Amino acid sequence: MTTYEPIIGIELHAELMTNSKMFCGCKVVDSVEADPNTAVCPVCLGMPGMLPVINQKAVEFSMRVALALNCDIQHHNIFARKNYFYPDLPKAYQISQYELPIGTNGWVDVELEDGTQKRIGIRRVHMEEDTGKLTHLDSGGSLVDYNRSGVPLLEIVSEPDIHSGEEARAYGMKIRQILRYLGVNSGDMEKGVLRVEPNISLRPSGTTAFGKRTELKNLNSFRALADGTAFEIARQTQVLDAGGEVAQETRGWHDTKRITFSQRSKEEAEDYRYFPEPDLPPLHISDEWIAQVRATLPELPDAKIARYQAAYGLSEYDAQVLAEERGTAVWFDEAVSAYPDAKVVANWVINNLFALMNEHKQGIEQIRVMPAGLGELLKLVDDGTINSSTAKEVLAEMFVGGKGATAVVQAKGLAQISDEGAITAVIQQIIADNSDQVAAYQGGKTKLMGWFVGQVMKATRGKANPALVNKLLQERLNE
Ligand code: ADP
Ligand code: MG
Ligand code: ZN
Repeated sequence: MTTYEPIIGIELHAELMTNSKMFCGCKVVDSVEADPNTAVCPVCLGMPGMLPVINQKAVEFSMRVALALNCDIQHHNIFARKNYFYPDLPKAYQISQYELPIGTNGWVDVELEDGTQKRIGIRRVHMEEDTGKLTHLDSGGSLVDYNRSGVPLLEIVSEPDIHSGEEARAYGMKIRQILRYLGVNSGDMEKGVLRVEPNISLRPSGTTAFGKRTELKNLNSFRALADGTAFEIARQTQVLDAGGEVAQETRGWHDTKRITFSQRSKEEAEDYRYFPEPDLPPLHISDEWIAQVRATLPELPDAKIARYQAAYGLSEYDAQVLAEERGTAVWFDEAVSAYPDAKVVANWVINNLFALMNEHKQGIEQIRVMPAGLGELLKLVDDGTINSSTAKEVLAEMFVGGKGATAVVQAKGLAQISDEGAITAVIQQIIADNSDQVAAYQGGKTKLMGWFVGQVMKATRGKANPALVNKLLQERLNE
């Protein structure tokens, strides 16, 4: 039997979170929440004679992405018309980039499930505009909402360097993470602001020529990307094993049946009659402009993870967890500025803060605990004002009430008891009340020490300084 090598290249579309649209002043609105056709004008409705104007912010956002994906930035940019008719495209052409995209020749490293990394080439990054949104009614007929028409859209096209559904998923997730880090896209796939389309073909192992590909459209999750790709690989294998040929076509993914199905034969580029957009001048991007945009790039996830391991000695896993989202990483970085033992801060964030965020269903942007607040809390532990189990209580209180650490400790009377006299009085009472245990301890059952410590803690509602309790108990019991 022939074995096959799957070859996969991914087209990913990301809407850019600019204030206004790509070629007009209309606001970019939430496609789910805004009323239909409330953010439209003659330009994005494709009225005759209206002229587009390039959105500078959208170009800068595109440059951010292209630079973050290690692309060369094209100095001479041309917009092109991609001609086709569809009711969601009132101009009957989409303004896109064709021969001269803004970014070319990039790469991104993705993390595979076995913990290894793999470099995937980025063929091109180009600017275009989104189409309107059609809703097909069960009762017949369709509705169209042009709010999305003309929203800046970035297309990121990978090299065919991907070889499985899992790799496809890892690639998609990495691109999404970078887009979110750059602040250009929310990554909210349910809202359709990020869409992925894998192109999939097989070739006999050991050969070099590419086979016929199918393209999967309208995947709305990375799970669909992984499963749809794996399904296509299996389906094409069967077709080839049976002596058949794979048809070059566009296929859909059925999310409940979990199968792909044929939609239409694949159109070729020449079908679109691309030609340079006559209503827009060439867009020149200077080296100075590139340098300015490059200077605004945040530290990206890979760099953060490497730094957390090298500079702070964190495990790879902890570093990844902290760097997963930019908001969390920035919060952590600020907490480390307030309290320089990064390992301690990392443990508190991962073990305690994340637990509170889960419990209260809050993201890092919503929480009221400030990074410096965690630093203040940890200093109270260091100087003996509270012990670390009380500190967890205090953090929970800070989380809910939004107060600072010192304020919570004072308001709740949680300060640790480090007064020898007060603790000694408690110990004497416990010794008096528990003569059996005292006798057993003194008869050699030294394990009872833990029980005595527990009694003192109970009597002081956890506030006694544990080191002092131990010392004083030893003294009394060994008298
Ligand atoms: P088109 O618009 O014709 O789909 P694009 O350039 O937008 O072309 O995207 C092509 C994508 O398909 C790229 O990601 C590329 O790597 C990938 N690709 C090209 N040929 C094959 C093939 N034979 N098998 C799998 N992927 C392919
Ligand atoms: Mg395509
Ligand atoms: Zn408009």
